[in-house]
Amino acid sequence: MSINSNSCRIIAIFNQAGGVAKTTLTHNLGYHLAQKKHRVLLIDMDPQASLTKFMGLVPAQLDKTVADAIIEEQPLPITKDIHGIDLAPTNRILSTTEMQLVSAEMRDLRLKEAIEPVKDAYDFILLDCPPSLGLLSYISLVAATHVLVPIETHVKAFEGTNELLQTVTRVKNRANRSLEIAGFVPTRYDRRNSADTRTLGAISTQLASWGKIFPPIPRATSFVDASEEREPLAVYDPKHSAVTLLDSLATAMEELS
Ligand code: ADP
Ligand code: MG
Repeated sequence: MSINSNSCRIIAIFNQAGGVAKTTLTHNLGYHLAQKKHRVLLIDMDPQASLTKFMGLVPAQLDKTVADAIIEEQPLPITKDIHGIDLAPTNRILSTTEMQLVSAEMRDLRLKEAIEPVKDAYDFILLDCPPSLGLLSYISLVAATHVLVPIETHVKAFEGTNELLQTVTRVKNRANRSLEIAGFVPTRYDRRNSADTRTLGAISTQLASWGKIFPPIPRATSFVDASEEREPLAVYDPKHSAVTLLDSLATAMEELS
């Protein structure tokens, strides 16, 4: 048994492109990990608060958010047990936080320090990053033990990949030497579309030296419907073919060292 086997894995779901299924993956992966009897906390790091909404909370009505933890150094506000998962929710105030952070003391460590007191209460903490390379993503990568990159199997998949990898490398070289790339998850894949198939091939060859390439998550409107119902796919449509894929992805996260 490795020394780390009982410690919390903190996984940043990161890609500065919007709409590549970061939030969908965070929500579903969290659910499957919780189903495997892990204690799971999701932290919504995107001021657009999609994850907070996907999990059924109303961002505008929140009393406390992750912004209070990052700026005021208050305890992380945690809503317990939504389909077995805990959530530190957010709202638009987090975009002001990003500006306040610019001049904050020890800003890089603000999220890491906010997580520290609750770390032992969880087996997995997933960070749903915003669609940018700004400070909120940066402090997420600093706080993380691993980074998981969803990547859309679309012709535009490689736009920004260099900047993404440069950012991860920069964090690894300076603020967080132990950060590991957990892998790449091709998302919204349409196997009947030859362009998607070509892109999937290119992802596999060009990114394999950086990390594991997981099997693609298919494009399916059920994902959209499930999120509108505020449910993980496995709850909304348990027989959907993507459910087993998400479950195996959760198993792969259990195997991270
Ligand atoms: P991001 O967090 O990267 O911006 P989201 O997870 O919010 O991306 O997904 C963007 C949109 O795409 C949402 O409406 C979501 O329901 C939808 N979506 C996510 N995954 C899939 C998929 N595999 N097939 C079809 N639509 C998807
Ligand atoms: Mg998102």
